[in-house]
Amino acid sequence: MKVFLQLMWYFKQEKWRYLGGISMLAFVSLGLLVPPKVVGLIVDHIEEGTMTEAMLWKYGALLISIAIGIYVLRYIWRILIFGAAVKLAMLLRNRLYEHFTKKSQEFYHKRRVGDLMAHSTNDLQAIQQTAGDGVLTLVDSLMMGGFTLIAMASTISWKLTLVSLLPLPIMAWATNKYGTMLHKRFHSAQEAFSTLNDKVQESISGTRVIKAFGQEKDDIDSFTKLSRDAVKKNLAVARIDSLFDPTISLIIGFSFFLAVGYGSVLVTRDELTIGELVSFTSYLGLLIWPMLAFGWLFNIVERGRASYDRVETLLAVKEEIENTGSIESIPQGDISFQLKKFSYASGSTILQEIYFTLKHGQTLGIVGKTGSGKTTLCKLLLREFDLNKGDITLDDHDICDYQLNALRAAIGYVPQDHFLFSATIAENIAFAKVNAAFSEIKEAAVLASIHKDISQFKYGYETVVGERGVTLSGGQKQRISIARALITNPEILILDDSLSAVDAKTEESILQHLKVKRQNQTTIITAHRLSSIAHCDLILVLENGTIAQRGTHNSLVHEDGWYKETYERQALETLISEGGVIK
Ligand code: ADP
Repeated sequence: MKVFLQLMWYFKQEKWRYLGGISMLAFVSLGLLVPPKVVGLIVDHIEEGTMTEAMLWKYGALLISIAIGIYVLRYIWRILIFGAAVKLAMLLRNRLYEHFTKKSQEFYHKRRVGDLMAHSTNDLQAIQQTAGDGVLTLVDSLMMGGFTLIAMASTISWKLTLVSLLPLPIMAWATNKYGTMLHKRFHSAQEAFSTLNDKVQESISGTRVIKAFGQEKDDIDSFTKLSRDAVKKNLAVARIDSLFDPTISLIIGFSFFLAVGYGSVLVTRDELTIGELVSFTSYLGLLIWPMLAFGWLFNIVERGRASYDRVETLLAVKEEIENTGSIESIPQGDISFQLKKFSYASGSTILQEIYFTLKHGQTLGIVGKTGSGKTTLCKLLLREFDLNKGDITLDDHDICDYQLNALRAAIGYVPQDHFLFSATIAENIAFAKVNAAFSEIKEAAVLASIHKDISQFKYGYETVVGERGVTLSGGQKQRISIARALITNPEILILDDSLSAVDAKTEESILQHLKVKRQNQTTIITAHRLSSIAHCDLILVLENGTIAQRGTHNSLVHEDGWYKETYERQALETLISEGGVIK
C-alpha cells in the first residue's frame, strides 16, 4: 500500500475529485445493502401470509429508486476517480518529457530509447491504474465490505457472521503472499518490455543497415528471443495473477457452505427466520466483489509500486550540467580555451592542454584524425559536459556564468549526424526561430547553398521531409542543417564536419557566403578536407586530444607534420580525380 503514500501529493492536489468520488462510492455501497434486506422482508411476509398488494408496490418502488440512484452515482464517481487517474498519467508523462528534454548527452549515452519509451507508456499505465482502479478497489473493499459486514452482524446474526467469515484469514495470507511474488515478477516483466521496445526501435531505425548486410534473419532471431523472454516473464506474472480469483472464489464458496449450514441450524432453532437467512446469503453474495476487489487491489498496487519506483528513479536522475549561471546577454563571441584536461565520465583523458584564443570575427579551423577530439572540443563550448572554472571563457566571463539557454542560443551548432524532423523544409530551417519570415528562411537557404535545390522540388520549401529526411541526399540534408543554424545569425557558428557530403564547388560557395556574412562573428569549422578550413585565421591540428600543430594554412603547409602530409595527399587525390597530370 506504500504506493498510495507515494501518490499522496496527487490525492491532495485532486482532493475534491477524490472526496466526491469516494462519497458517491459510499452511497452506492449503502444503497446496495437495501435490496437483500427488502427481499428478506418480502420472503418473511409471504411465509407469514401478511403480504399485501400495497406493500408489494412500496417495496417495488423502493428497489427501483435505489437502482436508479446507484446508476447515476456510479456514472459520476467513474468520471471523477478515473478522470483523476488519467490526469495523473498526463501529468507524469509531461514531467517525464520535460525531464527528457533537459537531459544532457551523457544521460542518453547511458540509456536506451526503448527503455525511456517503456517508462512513458507501460509504467504510466500501471500508475494510472493504481490511481483509478486502485483507489476504487481500496475504498470499495473496505467500505462495501465493512458496511455489508455491519449489516450482517447487526441486522441479522453476529454469530452467523463470525462463522461465515472463518475462512477470511486464509485469504489475507494468500493475497499477501501472491502480492510479494507479483511485485518481483512484474518488475522483471517491465524490464523485458523495455528491452523489447528498445530492440524494435533500433531495428526500425537501422533497417537499411540490417538489409544492406543481409542480417534480416539474425535480426528476426534476436527479436524472437527477446519477444519470447518478454512473453515468459509476462506469463510468470499471469500465473500469479490467475491465482487470485480462484483462491478468492474458493474461500467465498467455503463461506457460503458455512453460512447455509450453520444458518439452517439457527433457523431450525428458531433463532433466525427464513427471510433473514435469504438476506444473509444475499449479503454474503455482496461480499464477493469487495473480496475480489481486495485481491485485485494487491495486484494493482504491486504493479503500480513497481512502475512508480521505475518512474521516480528516472525522474530523480540529477541534472549533470548545473544551470547556475546568471548572465543573460548573448556573448559577443571572443573565445578563450585554457583547458588543461578533459575526460568523459566513462574514463580516459580525451583532451589536454588546449590553449588558444579567438576574437570575434575570426574563424577557427580544427583538423585531425577521426577520434582526435574535434567534436568533443566543440561540445565543450555548448556545455554539454561540465568543466572546471576558467577552462573556457567567453567575452571574459567563465562559460558557466552564462545561463545555459542564453549560451546555447548564441551558438549555432551543426552536428556531424544531422537530424531533420518529419516536417516541411521551411519548418526544419526555421526550427530555432519558429516565427521567421519566409524571406529569412530563404536567406538562410541561400547562404547554405541549398536554395536552388529546394526551388527544384515540386512543393519547394513546403516539401515534407520524410522520417529522418530519407527523401533528401546526404549533402542536401547537411546544407539544410547549416541553414537551420544560420537563420538565428548566431554569435558563434560551429560547423562540425558539416561540409563532408557536399562537393568542392558547393563547399567553396558556402564558405564564401559565410566569409561575407559573418565578418564580425566567430566561426569554428572542423573538417577532414583541408579545403574547408584553408581560409581560417587560426588552424589547430589535433592529435590524440592535444594540439600538435597550430598556425594558418600558409604557415602549416611549410611545416613538416600531419597538416603538410594531408595537404599534399589531398591535392594529389584532387588532381587524380580531375584527371590532371602531376608535375
Ligand atoms: P573526432 O570528432 O575528432 O572524430 P571525438 O571528439 O568525436 O573525435 O572523439 C574523441 C574521443 O572521445 C574518441 O576516442 C571517442 O571514442 C571518445 N568519445 C566521444 N564521445 C564520447 C562520450 N560521450 N563518452 C565517452 N567517450 C567519448
